[in-house]
Amino acid sequence: RIVFDQVAKSYGAVEVLPPFDLALDDGEFTVLVGPSGCGKSTTLRMLAGLETLSGGEIYFDDRPISKLDPKERDLAMVFQDYALYPHMNIAKNMSFALRLARVPKPEIEEKVQRVAGMLNIAHLLDRKPAELSGGQRQRVAMGRALVRDAGTFLFDEPLSNLDAKLRGKMRAELAEMRDTIDKNMVYVTHDQVEAMTLGDRIVVMSDGFIQQQGSPEELFKSPANKFVAGFIGSPT
Ligand code: ATP
Ligand code: MG
Repeated sequence: RIVFDQVAKSYGAVEVLPPFDLALDDGEFTVLVGPSGCGKSTTLRMLAGLETLSGGEIYFDDRPISKLDPKERDLAMVFQDYALYPHMNIAKNMSFALRLARVPKPEIEEKVQRVAGMLNIAHLLDRKPAELSGGQRQRVAMGRALVRDAGTFLFDEPLSNLDAKLRGKMRAELAEMRDTIDKNMVYVTHDQVEAMTLGDRIVVMSDGFIQQQGSPEELFKSPANKFVAGFIGSPT
């Protein structure tokens, strides 16, 4: 269980996230959804330890994040901007963390093949990131996280650069993954359809504030305010 306790974030004098609470239960697929600039990536990056907190604390099973080294957080993150290693081919990009962790080679190969197959990038493993399309790179970024046996997966808009058809397919794959593996998933998107299909729990954000959190049904049936209603598309 991951708990945000009065977590806040400012850049200089600009407060982008006023103090907020948020709890992520084990095995849950949580979606953070909201318009561009509302603070979704910042929230995810703080969770990943890539951004300092300006206030409050994040607890991993009651242990404060400031006391954990990155390994102990047991996270795998898919970045919004891919962050692939340009000089490594796709197979090496995908297996980077596994090689660092000294996972045996046959096991690495098996995992990379399986995930690459699932993401439809098995034919690209020998290429460099620069030789891929944006959508292909996005799938590699996702693959790099999925080969890892992490307890928590963080996804920052992993489907945003795919065409509509592929996005639908990947959404279905993710929904299946959600049902078959018992992991914490925190998924950021600005797409309400994605949020409503994937989320066990949806956290609706705007302008740095959590407007409402709940199951898709709860948000749809009883939106807390006009913003949520409009965003989710529920009848008002
Ligand atoms: P998007 O959907 O466009 O990715 P987001 O919800 O992920 O948006 P964030 O990247 O979390 O938004 O940014 C939240 C706010 O913080 C924005 O107003 C942004 O301009 C600001 N911000 C983000 N990073 C920095 C930074 N390094 N310095 C100053 N301001 C920043
Ligand atoms: Mg973002």
